[in-house]
Parts: sequence; C-alpha cells; structure tokens
Amino acid sequence: IPTSRVDKLPSSMGYGSRKEIARMAKRGGITLDAADPLNVSKRIPITPDLPARVEIDGEALDPLAGMVILLNKPLGMSCSHKEDGALVYDVLPERWKRRDPAVSTIGRLDKQTSGLLLLTDDGGLLHRVISPKRHIKKIYRAKLARPLDGTEGGLFASGQLMLEGEDKPLAPAELEVVSETEALLTVTEGRYHQVRRMFAATGNQVEKLHRERVGGLALPDGMVPGQWKLLSEEQIALIF
Ligand code: URA
Repeated sequence: IPTSRVDKLPSSMGYGSRKEIARMAKRGGITLDAADPLNVSKRIPITPDLPARVEIDGEALDPLAGMVILLNKPLGMSCSHKEDGALVYDVLPERWKRRDPAVSTIGRLDKQTSGLLLLTDDGGLLHRVISPKRHIKKIYRAKLARPLDGTEGGLFASGQLMLEGEDKPLAPAELEVVSETEALLTVTEGRYHQVRRMFAATGNQVEKLHRERVGGLALPDGMVPGQWKLLSEEQIALIF
C-alpha cells in the first residue's frame, strides 16, 4: 500500500501549503478513523476508502486522484483559462483549483454550448476519451436558424466534408432530424467549433447547442445546469 506524509496528501488536494497542513495537524484538525489526531510525523496509507476515514476539521477528505466529474455545463461559462469571465471550474469546490494533478476538462464545449461536460485529473483517461481513434460518440442537439434542406444527412455521413481551413475531411457523422429546425448530430471527433462549422458548411447556423451524451453516458434526468457529480467506476466505464 502506498503511503503519504500527513502534510503532503491534503496539500496536493488544495487544502493549504504543507506548512499550513502541518499546523492544522498539530492543533488536532486531521484525524484517521475518528481516532487520535494524526501527528505530522506519521504516514497515511493511501487506500481507496481513505476519504471516508480521514477527517479534516470534521469533514471527510476530498476524493483521491483519479476522479471523473460529470457537469451539466451552463451557457456562458468557458472551459478555457485564456477566456475572460466565468469558468466551468468555478462551480467546483474552490480548493480543487489547487489540486495536483490538476483537474481539467475532457475536451471543451464552447462558452455558448450547454450540456454534458466531463472533467478529470487523470491525464491517461483524458487522452483515451478525446482520441479520435477511439471513435467515442458525442451526441449534440442543435437548434437551427433555418429549416434543414434534406441534404445535410448525406453530406455529414459521407466522410468527405472538408471544413474551411482544414486539410482532412471529417469522419462520417450521423444526423437525426427532429424537426425542420432541430436535429441530433452524432460525431466521433472533437474539432474546433465542429458542430457549428458543419452546419455553417450547409448554409445554416446553429442557434442553440447542447451535448446530450458522451459514449454511453447521458446527462442524468433532473440534473440542472451547473450541477455536477463524481462518477463511479461503472459509470466511467460507460464512456468507452
Ligand atoms: N461543436 C461546437 O461547435 N461547439 C461545441 O461546443 C461542441 C461541438
């Protein structure tokens, strides 16, 4: 079983500097199995059930590294630190911004796209999900400015559609028409502004875009924008 110094693990989770954690331990703020306060000279065993066994100032320790978070992304929040304004990271606990390894989004949704967004601190998992070679299906619901003309499905499925400024055609994508101005689109890549640019290539314009599924994972019923949850191992497996 791997172990960690008492000050190191909470510090890597964003609870404070190692000095601050050591001070916290000294005043009895960190306990294992609700027993004696953990002295900073001790080592803590890193087992999967550890977050339930360690309390920091009376509250269960945050999840260990290897989390996958499912968020119903609200409109108007950005996935990129380079953009101004609200970030999707702002909906998570403040100290998670200081976690090492860092939590980052698995791919991105535009500021003006809502729906299923995954975040993780597991770099390997992140790359497995975004790799186009894995063909993980992403399903988007698009509301359009103009009526569909009936040619879109064939074009998207052809594997020949070349987006402006690119030199490799898009992999085949599947269109399901919902109404004259609404469709579900299943893509397996994640190119920049892909869905908006696909409809732009047909002379249309996406007015509203919402991601409903990634692989076998859907947004849970009743999860309102801005709500998030940690995924279980079984739920993570549904992505692939
Ligand atoms: N395609 C887009 O155009 N925007 C997104 O946010 C996701 C896919």
